[in-house]
Amino acid sequence: MFWDEKIETMPRDDLETLQIARLQTTVSRAANAPFYKQLFAGAGFEPAAIKSLDDIRRIPFTTKDDLRTSWPYGLLAAAKDELVRMHSSSGTTGRSTVIFHTAADIDAWTDTLTRSMYMAGMRKADVFQNMMTYGLFTGGLGFHYGAERLGALTIPVGAGNSKRQIQLMRDFETTAVHIIPSYALHLTGVFDEMGLDPRRDTRLRIAFLGAEPHSEKTRHRIEEFYGLKAFNSYGLSEMNGPGVGFECQCQAGLHVWEDNFLMEIIDPDTLEPVDDGVEGELVMTTLKRAGMPILRYRTKDLTRIIAQPCACGRTHRRIERITGRTDDMLIIKGVNIFPIQIEKKLMETDGVGTDFQIILERKGYNDHMIVRVEVAREFFSGDLKQLELLRKKITEELRSDILITPRVDLVEPNTLPKTEGKAVRVIDNRTD
Ligand code: AMP
Ligand code: ZN
Repeated sequence: MFWDEKIETMPRDDLETLQIARLQTTVSRAANAPFYKQLFAGAGFEPAAIKSLDDIRRIPFTTKDDLRTSWPYGLLAAAKDELVRMHSSSGTTGRSTVIFHTAADIDAWTDTLTRSMYMAGMRKADVFQNMMTYGLFTGGLGFHYGAERLGALTIPVGAGNSKRQIQLMRDFETTAVHIIPSYALHLTGVFDEMGLDPRRDTRLRIAFLGAEPHSEKTRHRIEEFYGLKAFNSYGLSEMNGPGVGFECQCQAGLHVWEDNFLMEIIDPDTLEPVDDGVEGELVMTTLKRAGMPILRYRTKDLTRIIAQPCACGRTHRRIERITGRTDDMLIIKGVNIFPIQIEKKLMETDGVGTDFQIILERKGYNDHMIVRVEVAREFFSGDLKQLELLRKKITEELRSDILITPRVDLVEPNTLPKTEGKAVRVIDNRTD
């Protein structure tokens, strides 16, 4: 049942004692980094002040901008010759940030992934196809070493080249994949095109879905089409990458590996902690990383803590699937909208295909939202009455949820631009 039972089911008191000890070590170590040396001095903070977990609130937050301005080595807490690996964020919002790891850091990271995959039910006998980009992005190598440590045959295919992915799945009888959810949806069309049905023609049984927000409905679509169980995998490069939060077989929230990370949820406006169960911004501190510890990192990801114990027996608390990022929020005609709301509505609607895009335009003082949606090809043949009915239905569904009326454009499958990495959902053409 467990990869590391002692750690995974550690009684909460013991886990918190371990967290305090690791937090003290981490904070003292962080004081070696030029960035934290200055931050601590500015705040009049001494590492010895950490006596309890709450004392972390004496330390100011670290933001992505801090990481950027400290580029490249300002957060290094170890000598350069202790480092063995560098990774970076995918840099979708400005210059990417870099993270450095010692050998022990890589070892601890790998361990979180092995645990996570084992928790979801992957075993040595599985054939694991890692369909994430290798290289600086953490989704490739992170999962790769975790799967190897688990003992599964690992196929490091990387992203893209859909037909080849399917061929590999068939030839080597792949049973588990790591895949971006928008790409998993896109690939359904390629299976169709090739006249293949993954339920019949592959042995897939597990998918790890990570790297981008997706709704429960998208998970169900993927599970249905491929005939497998899909598990949500959350992580960010600043906290190593994947292996931060991961679903167990209960599929009811993501366990955060609290022996490696300390989590807080704050109100992004007041920066004060919120109660368990209340949604806010996730703030994370590394507890085991020696090369580049990061304290109170504002992830910008919105979620809530599920404090109730999980039926699987693991004591590490869960978070709910990410509902958006504070910087993802669109403000249109004064209404706050998260792209995931639109994804959810679309995926619930029959006839909607596997991809969509939101385009924002400004005409005079008015903002307009255009939602381009791929729909099944049959809507485009014969008379277009059904297409128009579907367009009206989608417009109405969206309006009832987001409270503004977008212009909905329906397009044929495979018309919207595809990326190999995270899907680009919003094109903002508004200029001030
Ligand atoms: P990067 O550092 O480039 O790997 O990007 C990390 C970001 O990707 C996170 O802060 C999240 O916004 C997003 N992300 C990663 N995994 C998930 C997931 N399972 N659900 C929602 N968002 C995710
Ligand atoms: Zn669980």
